[in-house]
Amino acid sequence: MTGRIHSIESMGLVDGPGVRSVVFFQGCPLRCLYCHNPDTQRGGGQEISAQELCRRLVRFRPYFGDSGGVTFSGGEPLAQPEFLLECLRRLKAEGIHTCLDTSGVGLGNYGEILAHTDLVLYDVKHFDPQGYRAITGRDMDATLAFVEAVRTAGVPIWVRHVVVPGLTDGEDHLTALGAYIATLPGVERVELLPYHTMGVEKYRKLGIPYALEGVPPMDGTKLEKWNRRLNEICRRGTKQERNESYEH
Ligand code: SF4
Repeated sequence: MTGRIHSIESMGLVDGPGVRSVVFFQGCPLRCLYCHNPDTQRGGGQEISAQELCRRLVRFRPYFGDSGGVTFSGGEPLAQPEFLLECLRRLKAEGIHTCLDTSGVGLGNYGEILAHTDLVLYDVKHFDPQGYRAITGRDMDATLAFVEAVRTAGVPIWVRHVVVPGLTDGEDHLTALGAYIATLPGVERVELLPYHTMGVEKYRKLGIPYALEGVPPMDGTKLEKWNRRLNEICRRGTKQERNESYEH
């Protein structure tokens, strides 16, 4: 079984808990306005077998310690479900912690995939269908189907949300985001990611117009208060879910 990957980051610190090797899959069905990896959206990349990829990843195990592991990111890992599943199976057989960094738009087989996934880093693009379409170019139904699969599988979620000035910032937006996050299952943590412009040069090189030309980077310090508030909401939600499951 082979798949197409863009690259491997051997020791990442921001895509899940602990020290992690991050595999960036090639190809993504979305076209997010703020995507800073447009070079992962389309075809290309390198073809590699699941066996060879996992052989390389397992070599980093000494760096993972008790909390690290491997994160599959992209692009969109769910767009290569069989390849992803074989990689997950192989890593779980080695006892390695697995994370899936995803927008939740894939090609199905979610139950099997999630059975071999320890944590989902779920990219919430927007909480309402119009806003979702404006950012990604796609309908929201596909990602909602994935959320239901995560609910059934009981895999914990870390929510991530990119905050773009004038698009996904502001009190009203972030308040509504908090209400939406409270409806998601098993959310352990929320990470607001400040929009940055480091990917703009890639668009120029690829000859693709950049939709957010002129939008300034988001000041991360302005998000601290909201990060605290949203994490408080998700702590309350998790406590309530726990109480409900004890009652059943
Ligand atoms: S889901 Fe991720 S990789 Fe795909 S277009 Fe959006 S930001 Fe880019």
